[in-house]
Amino acid sequence: MRVGIVGGGQLGMMLVEAGASLGVDCITLDPAADSPAARVGPSIQGTYDDPAALARLADGADVVTYEFENVPVDGVRDLEGRLPVLPPPAALEVAQDRLAEKALFTDVGLQVPAFAAVDDLDGLRAAVGSIGLPAVLKTRRFGYDGKGQAVLRHEELAEDAWRAVGEVPSILEAFVPFDRELSVLAVRGRVGEIRCWPLVENHHREGILRLSLAPAPDLAPVLQAAAEAHAISVLERLDYVGVLAIELFQVGDSLLGNEMAPRVHNSGHWTIEGSATSQFENHLRAICGLPLGDVGMRGVAAMVNLIGEEPSADPILEIPGAHLHRYGKEPRPGRKLGHITVTAEDQRLLRSRVANIPGVPIDYQTWPT
Ligand code: AMP
Repeated sequence: MRVGIVGGGQLGMMLVEAGASLGVDCITLDPAADSPAARVGPSIQGTYDDPAALARLADGADVVTYEFENVPVDGVRDLEGRLPVLPPPAALEVAQDRLAEKALFTDVGLQVPAFAAVDDLDGLRAAVGSIGLPAVLKTRRFGYDGKGQAVLRHEELAEDAWRAVGEVPSILEAFVPFDRELSVLAVRGRVGEIRCWPLVENHHREGILRLSLAPAPDLAPVLQAAAEAHAISVLERLDYVGVLAIELFQVGDSLLGNEMAPRVHNSGHWTIEGSATSQFENHLRAICGLPLGDVGMRGVAAMVNLIGEEPSADPILEIPGAHLHRYGKEPRPGRKLGHITVTAEDQRLLRSRVANIPGVPIDYQTWPT
């Protein structure tokens, strides 16, 4: 099998690596010649909306997939006449528009924070009236890692928030005083079989994921069941094939849908060492029509992102159960340069191991001992 991957970032890199041991040859398309994926496999340098580059990616491929969601939908739709494009471009379309995403979640019974569409400053003022404050203004399209967002706490700062998001179509969302952030990752195969990994607890700083704990500590089985039911509904509604991630807010005993990613996800990196089958391998198995792998866990796992700068490797490699993944990127503030997965038999041991990672910016008070 041969898979063409639109995008050559670290997600593409880890898909290529998973493909190598499965006997699935991957090729990536990325505007950068020195993308992380280009370090580990063949790549085409080109933009995602260049029909000639997309056609080259599809040449000789059995299936095309993507590793980030801001791929122009028209380009990949054009390929559908030639070969399967999975997950289906309809999933991309939903994930690219926060309004469509919220409509889908609501439709399948996953509650979302109160929200209103905002198209101009007057609309924002009206939305503040109906939603209340504090609230979060988010661009409908092209937001990621907290970009294209502004928290609005005072009505008189509405104009500043509108400018901060670039005066583009947006939504105003009630600020949720969540207990914690969770994500559910699920995979659906070509004949419709579905597997869900255990819910993961995620900690962000400045909108960027810093730490994931798998499984989410002290997780009520009823929450896992609810998240799985929602993931299954979304997968089936979209006739989805591949890995899907849904980010959730836990408030008491209920879950609210925040957003979805129609691809492998940062909060699933721990699956490489912590799960019987990684999200990367199961994504390839799904889109290639192969049987899905077991998603059971081996002990517990934590994933720490390396953002902006990389600590020296030696002290990390000395931590039992720690695995360092470096993406080969130039350091830049706010940039994801790599991650560390730590596995352990239980949460206490895991916590003590993660505490040895230099500079982990996490409040350990929240982590149960
Ligand atoms: P997003 O790009 O929508 O995933 O938002 C990035 C991060 O901002 C989330 O992971 C949350 O930590 C925070 N956030 C987003 N929306 C809300 C909200 N409605 N209420 C509180 N925090 C939020």
